[in-house]
Amino acid sequence: MAETIIVLGGGIIGLSCAFELQRRGHQVKVLETRQCGGQASGAAAGMLAPYSENVEGPDEFFRLCHESLRLYPAWQQTVREISGCDFEYTASGSLYVARHAADLLVLEGRLLWQREYGSSGSLVEGAELQKLEPMLSGQMLAGLYTPEESHVYAPDFVKALEQGCRRLGVDIHEELEQLELMEFEQEVLVKAADGRTFRSDRLLVCSGAWAQELAEVLDIRIPIYPIRGQICAYRMEAQQPVRHMVFGPQGYLVAKANSTVVCGASEDVAGYDTSVTERGIERLKKWNKQMFPHLEHLEPFHRWAGLRPATQDGLPLIGKLASARRIVMAAGHYRNGILLSPATAMLAADMIEGKEYPAFNEAFNPERFGKAASYYSF
Ligand SMILES: Cc1cc2nc3c(=O)[nH]c(=O)nc-3n(C[C@H](O)[C@H](O)[C@H](O)COP(=O)(O)OP(=O)(O)OC[C@H]3O[C@@H](n4cnc5c(N)ncnc54)[C@H](O)[C@@H]3O)c2cc1C
Repeated sequence: MAETIIVLGGGIIGLSCAFELQRRGHQVKVLETRQCGGQASGAAAGMLAPYSENVEGPDEFFRLCHESLRLYPAWQQTVREISGCDFEYTASGSLYVARHAADLLVLEGRLLWQREYGSSGSLVEGAELQKLEPMLSGQMLAGLYTPEESHVYAPDFVKALEQGCRRLGVDIHEELEQLELMEFEQEVLVKAADGRTFRSDRLLVCSGAWAQELAEVLDIRIPIYPIRGQICAYRMEAQQPVRHMVFGPQGYLVAKANSTVVCGASEDVAGYDTSVTERGIERLKKWNKQMFPHLEHLEPFHRWAGLRPATQDGLPLIGKLASARRIVMAAGHYRNGILLSPATAMLAADMIEGKEYPAFNEAFNPERFGKAASYYSF
């Protein structure tokens, strides 16, 4: 049965959920306090890298990331067709490099379990490594090459999603100050500071690093907090020096189609401050030149920062609230929200439509942290 749904937050998660729900015949409104894509989603490097980002083992989080990568080719094509917008989506593959023999052992262990989950990855060394990344520092001993990983140009992709939502008929409201959840038992009623009210059958909370603001009214702990990521980009005049997404223990570099190389990113606790610090960028520059020595004489032309929605246990909160049946959450995607957007949209839409996924329900249950009484602020 078609429902009316308010999506709180117009980042990649809110827009992807709105896009999918409207496509399925529901009537969706997106309420955004600032501008769509103006926070973490517009700041991201856009890497779709479940293997490089998941180093621990094949848990439910990895499975969701893996499923999302599988969905991406068709998902981005649908967004492209419905929105009529162009954006970069590049199947570059990735290289996770090791400088020391001990790091190589870690990569070998990772490759063993990742092969069971569809990776056709391999360890490359010496001449083979240099062939893949000719300008990589000769000090790098080896790399774990994963051809399946890809990336999008996040700011353009989010704009395309927003345009796609509008074309599908999603009602988008931006610059709404101080939204207040007035009622969520008989119906959902949200009130804006200017007096406007919005009503629906359901509320889907996709407000990223700000989702914890609803903890008190919903009476659950929502331990999501902002982790600032500082990031920068170099402009490449001549030959593109980086061919893949190149990861190391301290960061990554990604070459974009617009002749830039994006290098990220710090992980700072700085509250809701999105400023860029000299120290943060200097650390990135130092690491970049260890990886690609020719970057030493270049200055980043662009520096920015965004707030990743981190959670207490590292897993997102996705699912319906047992204690408030009209409320669904999809927040806390930390470092992988761009990657996880299609899988989250499918999962949230399926859950709203009553389909259950027991393993995911348990792992990402938004009420797993208990009641608000034990809530503390970060
Ligand atoms: C530097 C950096 C690099 C990254 N690189 C990658 C990457 O390569 N790959 C990847 O997968 N992920 C990456 N990420 C992570 C990714 O950006 C996030 O996981 C993702 O953007 C989270 O999306 P979101 O929609 O939940 O949050 P956001 O994009 O932050 O959107 C939340 C929105 O909610 C709005 N909002 C807040 N409060 C309210 C309210 N009360 N009512 C209504 N709206 C509200 C905000 O204004 C905001 O627009 C990176 C992040 C950073 C910072």
